[in-house]
Amino acid sequence: MVKKKSEYNFIEVMNTKQFETQAIRAQLPRSENNEHSVPLYLTSSFVFDSAEDMRAAFAEETDPYIYSRYTNPNTSEFVDKMCLLEGAESGVATASGMAAIYTSLAALLKSGDHVIACSSIFGATHTIFSKYFPKWNIEHSYFEATNPEAIDQLVKPNSKIIFVETPTNPGIEIIDLEVLGKLAKKHNLILIVDNCFATPYIQQPIKYGADLVVHSATKYIDGQGRVLGGVVVGKKELIREIYLFGRITGPSLSPFNAWTLSKSLETLALRMDRHSENALHVATELEKNAALDFVKYPFLPSHPQYAIAKKQMKQGGGIITFSVKGGYEAATKFMDKLQFIKISPNLGDARTIATHPASSTHCKLSEEERLAVGILPGLIRVSIGLENKDDILKDILNALN
Ligand SMILES: *Cc1c(COP(=O)(O)O)cnc(C)c1O
Repeated sequence: MVKKKSEYNFIEVMNTKQFETQAIRAQLPRSENNEHSVPLYLTSSFVFDSAEDMRAAFAEETDPYIYSRYTNPNTSEFVDKMCLLEGAESGVATASGMAAIYTSLAALLKSGDHVIACSSIFGATHTIFSKYFPKWNIEHSYFEATNPEAIDQLVKPNSKIIFVETPTNPGIEIIDLEVLGKLAKKHNLILIVDNCFATPYIQQPIKYGADLVVHSATKYIDGQGRVLGGVVVGKKELIREIYLFGRITGPSLSPFNAWTLSKSLETLALRMDRHSENALHVATELEKNAALDFVKYPFLPSHPQYAIAKKQMKQGGGIITFSVKGGYEAATKFMDKLQFIKISPNLGDARTIATHPASSTHCKLSEEERLAVGILPGLIRVSIGLENKDDILKDILNALN
């Protein structure tokens, strides 16, 4: 008898809707070895009891594990947990956040289609739109994150997808998800939200009408800077398209990375609470500092979209930005003076990390493009870690002086 994949999943989910309990207790059922922690399934393929069983599997009359490019118990567990936490019907795990974004877009778009996206967006996502999509005759238009109503004017007969991030990277702008959900519905467009900065603990875009939510699991979901991973969750029929495209083109998540990410979800709520508490403290203190032009953080009352952030986010998250007076040179000097805070392009780590977007993550944009999305020459993005909040602040203040 060939088991269905779904028969393996989630014996431990209690009758609860509480995030923390679900994130810890949802897991694969125990094997006959009665292990406490879920085993790692380092196997590229699975065996069948008979030629007939294998035929039925390939004919999709049954739904067993076949080959780890399609699915694997560890990737299924990770995906099913993410679905539970995001309130999604179905999902696909990928090797990185960009694989989740690219695979979703490539599976759903065809030549001649048009994408509407917020202009303040992850650098590599912008490069897909601006450099690679024109090769396949896929157009895009940008709207300013602070003005989603502009979508009304951008919609064309060939528009298919709205793609956004909120909070945006690195602008930390907040887009009103309720407004986006209504606009997507009104124009019959697929709404995709990159929920990387918030995580499902802080914000659940599906509640507001998002059709798909994508993640770089490399960031807060891992949370300790160890593995790359990505995931897309959302409406069943869209996920089916993405799954079929992914199973052929091969952006699959490795079982080891899936196992790591699934374990990491157990501490996501705790970590996000502490990231947010530390970031609010540092942002509040830095706002008093004369060496900075401004500090931006969703839960600072001075944030232009503070009210929207409060409405749709449980916490402010771990990312703050600020602009050093003196521009590019002052910013790079500041970076070099940091002591325990490291210079790295990553974010969402237990360790506090600083990035200078103009010279690194967003260097592929022209100066004009950067300024248009608020990436000033002196802008610094800090991913506030889980160290003692006064130590983090001290290192930043020391480098500013
Ligand atoms: C890092 C990041 C990505 C890309 O994820 P990778 O795992 O590095 O491929 C996409 N979107 C946002 C907002 C990110 O921060």
